Amino acid sequence: MKVVLQNLTKIFPSRNKKSHETVVAVSDFSFTIPDGKLIGLLGPSGCGKSTTLYMISGLQKPTSGRIFFGDDDVTELSTENRGIGLVFQNYALYPHMTVKQNILFPLQNLKGKDKMSKEAMLDRAQHAAELVQIESLMDRKPNELSGGQQQRVAIARALVKMPRVLLLDEPLSNLDARLRLQTREEIRRIQTETGITTVFVTHDQEEAMSISDMIVVMREGVVQQIGAPQEVYDDPDNLFVAKFLGTPPINAFSGKVEGGRVFIGPDAALDAPGVPDQDVVVGIRPEGFVLDGNGPLKCRLSNVEVMGRDVSIVSTHEASLNPTIRSIINADRRLDIAQEVVRYALKPHKVFLFQKETERRIRFEVKTDG
Ligand code: ATP
Repeated sequence: MKVVLQNLTKIFPSRNKKSHETVVAVSDFSFTIPDGKLIGLLGPSGCGKSTTLYMISGLQKPTSGRIFFGDDDVTELSTENRGIGLVFQNYALYPHMTVKQNILFPLQNLKGKDKMSKEAMLDRAQHAAELVQIESLMDRKPNELSGGQQQRVAIARALVKMPRVLLLDEPLSNLDARLRLQTREEIRRIQTETGITTVFVTHDQEEAMSISDMIVVMREGVVQQIGAPQEVYDDPDNLFVAKFLGTPPINAFSGKVEGGRVFIGPDAALDAPGVPDQDVVVGIRPEGFVLDGNGPLKCRLSNVEVMGRDVSIVSTHEASLNPTIRSIINADRRLDIAQEVVRYALKPHKVFLFQKETERRIRFEVKTDG
């Protein structure tokens, strides 16, 4: 089922009664979520991702704009009548009910023509439990389960009604690091197996990148960029998106373009043919540095952190906008920690230029050798 968001806007009145200022939580968001895909809504706290999810679910009514499930305009429909499954961060299970009763609950509430026989309900509950692999826990109460198991029950409960759309609001936030990793793979498997169009809200860029078909990066209610995770990482539209994706984060430098060359401080770091002279911010991905004794970018070496397959070299540069620069280099390359200076050549496709004022990307043709 495709989901169409058409000029979705949500404006809240101010929480402060004395002020008349309103909060634009989501501003003019238009996007068609393709059928059967998993979309990650991503951005820092307060960027409007939960509000977007709540509008799709019907928990919040848009100030303006429309929402369609397939060709159905669902904008005015209540949450119960939209055919959605919702999973929250805190699981929201009924503590006095067993796992089985929790999963059955949404089916027992069906009315009229949707009403199901007891056998059919049990069948469905069993199927949902098998999908999330908790069939052996059906008689336990939620407080007898781990966090990861509780979240699986919540997912089974959301799936049991065979929703048209599955909506997940930070579903992994309460889990420890290892369970988070495992459960996110589970969510991806379940989503692929069921083919249900899914929207997943998270502030964790790695989480969103790892399981989404497409990510939507938001900032202060405004969509910054939409695309496949790798596409957005490799080709960010602005400095905010470039900074938000990637660990370690992108290294930013204040620089300038002069005569088709990019200068970082005094160092002519790279060619940018056709780019007019101007002040810029230069972003360099950690994997964009190459150790090179004759390289144009001269940094002061602070530390080398061994990470196994790679090493992370920590250095500084007077034009760096971050306190330190982090580069990731293959561990096969030896670096003498005693040396004061480290010189880098740059991989051009890992270097991005942004207009200084607007922070928008300036694209230029990257020459690749050979
Ligand atoms: P978080 O990750 O912290 O949940 P978010 O990206 O999901 O953040 P939203 O919860 O959608 O952000 O909030 C977007 C903006 O709308 C914020 O500035 C928030 O303070 C404001 N907001 C959200 N709900 C309300 C409300 N009921 N009344 C007033 N303002 C609200």
